Amino acid sequence: MSIADLDVDKLVSQIILEVKKRNTEGTRASSVVYNSVSAAVEAATKAQKEVMQQSIEQRKKYVEAIRLTIIKNAEMLAEMTVKESGMGIVADKVIKNKLAANKTPGPEILKTEACSGDRGLTIVEMAPFGVIGAITPVTNPIATIVNNSIGMLSAGNSVIFSVHPNAKESSKKAIELMNEAIVEKGGPPSLLCSLATPSIETAQELMHHPGINLLTATGGPGVVKAALSCGKKAIGAGAGNPPVIVDETADIEKAARDIIAGGSFDNNLPCITEKCIIVVGQVADKLLSNMEKNKAYLASKEEIKALEKILAIETQEESGKIKYSPNKKYVGKDAKYILKEIGVNVQREIKAVITEVEGSHPFAITEMMMPVLPLVQVKNIDKAIALGVEVEQNNKHTAVIHSKNVDNMTSFARAIQTTIFVKNAPSYAGIGVGGEGYTTFTIAGPTGEGLTTARDYTRKRRCVLVDALSIV
Ligand code: NAD
Repeated sequence: MSIADLDVDKLVSQIILEVKKRNTEGTRASSVVYNSVSAAVEAATKAQKEVMQQSIEQRKKYVEAIRLTIIKNAEMLAEMTVKESGMGIVADKVIKNKLAANKTPGPEILKTEACSGDRGLTIVEMAPFGVIGAITPVTNPIATIVNNSIGMLSAGNSVIFSVHPNAKESSKKAIELMNEAIVEKGGPPSLLCSLATPSIETAQELMHHPGINLLTATGGPGVVKAALSCGKKAIGAGAGNPPVIVDETADIEKAARDIIAGGSFDNNLPCITEKCIIVVGQVADKLLSNMEKNKAYLASKEEIKALEKILAIETQEESGKIKYSPNKKYVGKDAKYILKEIGVNVQREIKAVITEVEGSHPFAITEMMMPVLPLVQVKNIDKAIALGVEVEQNNKHTAVIHSKNVDNMTSFARAIQTTIFVKNAPSYAGIGVGGEGYTTFTIAGPTGEGLTTARDYTRKRRCVLVDALSIV
């Protein structure tokens, strides 16, 4: 066949189309993933300035587009995350991804305050910070990124993410999808930026970069402490160790069902999930047998000893104090897998392992993030509350109670002072699953913002007009 036999015009237009397509894809991909923090800051600064020239209506379109793309890709992102991080349950991560997409408030949550009087009109508006550095965890990587993106962008900011290295590919994919959705609606690229090789070092570089105006750190005590000591405004969303109390007045069947549902959700990874069960002795047997009915495995004393050996790592601090941390190999793993590691093969379906221990046991006082739940028996509600406060360790995070006694509920809430307090439901009701209210995946106990929204990513600015525009 000679060249004269080909439809040259058709061929040329096909080549042009292909080149255009590749150029666009190249621009998109390279525009959101940066090799250095400085390059990301430069791009994010430019994008933020552009978004400030656009209307709030336009911003709402970007947020809607983010919601749609994440809902559409929720399964794919969940599968990718579990494969990459080796933690958690795909179906539960799908719920978290969709929850973040559906129930994170958008720009509508921002309200202008006004005061008018003899001397005119003063308004206080919620303005963006500029470029936010967001450090995100491996336990809820996608849901946190989606939640932060919607909240931060709704407030008119751009964001640079330093994600957990063990979830970097799935996190980058989510950021890329959200940016594509924004660009398709006419937004600037690089409103949401990721780093090619995120690490503790890139997170620290973000903390100290002069182009970053606000930081959010969602993770354990180390990253929160580092963010709060870096000399700029930081929102710290730190660790939890939520106790759940069951008193003698509770609906025990429901309590057992709810605790297993909450405590085994995503293999106990979320910071809000039940981490230590405290039960008043007279209803302990009934609670245990009902938990067994709800797919819990009750470990024997020997099995608990074997679990202790592989799951909790003991270290001695300089002061001589003994500290425990979870063995990372088992964080977010299935209950059956963990039992197999100590030679126990369970045939039936199980969601959690219950270990009956003392209140000072490493499983009770450590945030283990595994579906191995310690259960401690106590004499009465006063002892339960005292132990609840002790195991929560002033994280000011989450606590749960199953009770029909309003006084007991009130006493526990007052004593423990957590950001989230759930009554008669699984812990996840506290972030809007089966409970009222919006969701967040950045729960800022230490710095007090609580369940963060777009409002927390704004600076309040006052605008005063004297002797006019007050119309009464
Ligand atoms: P992690 O602290 O190991 O890592 C979180 C992020 O911080 C990662 O991106 C990591 O690279 C970075 N990082 C860690 N140490 C750092 C340091 N010294 N300086 C700078 N950056 C640092 O936590 P994880 O294992 O990813 O997540 C689990 C922890 O996060 C649990 O303690 C859980 O309770 C907490 N968490 C809290 C919330 C909340 O909203 N309060 C939400 C999710 C997870």
